[in-house]
Amino acid sequence: MERMTAPAPASRRVLLAAPRGYCAGVDRAVIAVEKALEQYGAPVYVRHEIVHNKYVVQTLQKKGAIFVEKTEEVPPGNIVMFSAHGVAPVVHEEAARGRLATIDATCPLVTKVHKEAIRYANEDFDILLIGHEGHEEVIGTSGEAPDHITIVDGPDDVAKVEVRDESKVVWLSQTTLSVDETMETVDALKQKFPLLVSPPSDDICYATSNRQAAVKAMGAEADLVVVVGSKNSSNSIRLVEVALDAGARAAHLVDFASEIDEAWLEGVTTVGLTSGASVPEVLVEEVLEWLAQRGFADVEIVKTAEESIVFSLPKELRRDLRTEAAELVAGGAEE
Ligand code: SF4
Repeated sequence: MERMTAPAPASRRVLLAAPRGYCAGVDRAVIAVEKALEQYGAPVYVRHEIVHNKYVVQTLQKKGAIFVEKTEEVPPGNIVMFSAHGVAPVVHEEAARGRLATIDATCPLVTKVHKEAIRYANEDFDILLIGHEGHEEVIGTSGEAPDHITIVDGPDDVAKVEVRDESKVVWLSQTTLSVDETMETVDALKQKFPLLVSPPSDDICYATSNRQAAVKAMGAEADLVVVVGSKNSSNSIRLVEVALDAGARAAHLVDFASEIDEAWLEGVTTVGLTSGASVPEVLVEEVLEWLAQRGFADVEIVKTAEESIVFSLPKELRRDLRTEAAELVAGGAEE
């Protein structure tokens, strides 16, 4: 763990987690909506919030994105983009029936879990999908093989899990869970099904794990941890839980600096600050400014990992952008 300490020590300080904020999947999805708006003009319909962040959604709405919950809400002949959380195959079918052009902004790390589900279902495994019932990503992954998948929503769910053949069971997971709680669930499942197969690689994504590790590293020292993120953001909610488990006296989730309650600062000398994977840095900067105005001007970065992952844009957009570039080049050559 690397620490960059501000020069003047002070009794009041902020521990700023790194990494925090945007992950590669969110960055790609948000840029995809912006590029689609530039490329095709408004409106661009997006099924479900492109990422679970109020500020991002409001900003894209102002630029001309229209967010819908159901595919049928999109008028025929329009473009619909699927969010970073992924969709079930039935949603692609709905779009085809509604004569919609689609852009799939599903995070490649979610797509990886979909492919695992398809593969194990084809091999006739029972798949125990650890995740939160009703979460968009879990709905999408389950939809790949509904007859083979059972959702396990934490260790307390294990007792009621039943399978057809105990020698053919595999567990997969949602990408944005608590690493520790998921391992607890897996241990409980292994107790019940000793032959349980594990996925070939981690389903909890690098961004979720890294953000939790950074919060763990500073949680014990923090009197208060502020997590910037929306209430429907799974990975942001997990950061609050991880901070408390790591020893923080209090932890709160806020969308904006204006939601911080001054009373939370009573008796506090060290504030931990982080943000979920769908949160733009501008919102963290606003919280830093809010804290500085209240005497928390010294900021110490608690860095536990470097991140350099970048995903290319959805293939439908890349294709159209290439075509447009080719037309521009051809047009330029004719002039
Ligand atoms: S949190 Fe992980 S799985 Fe979700 S969009 Fe980001 S990188 Fe992808």
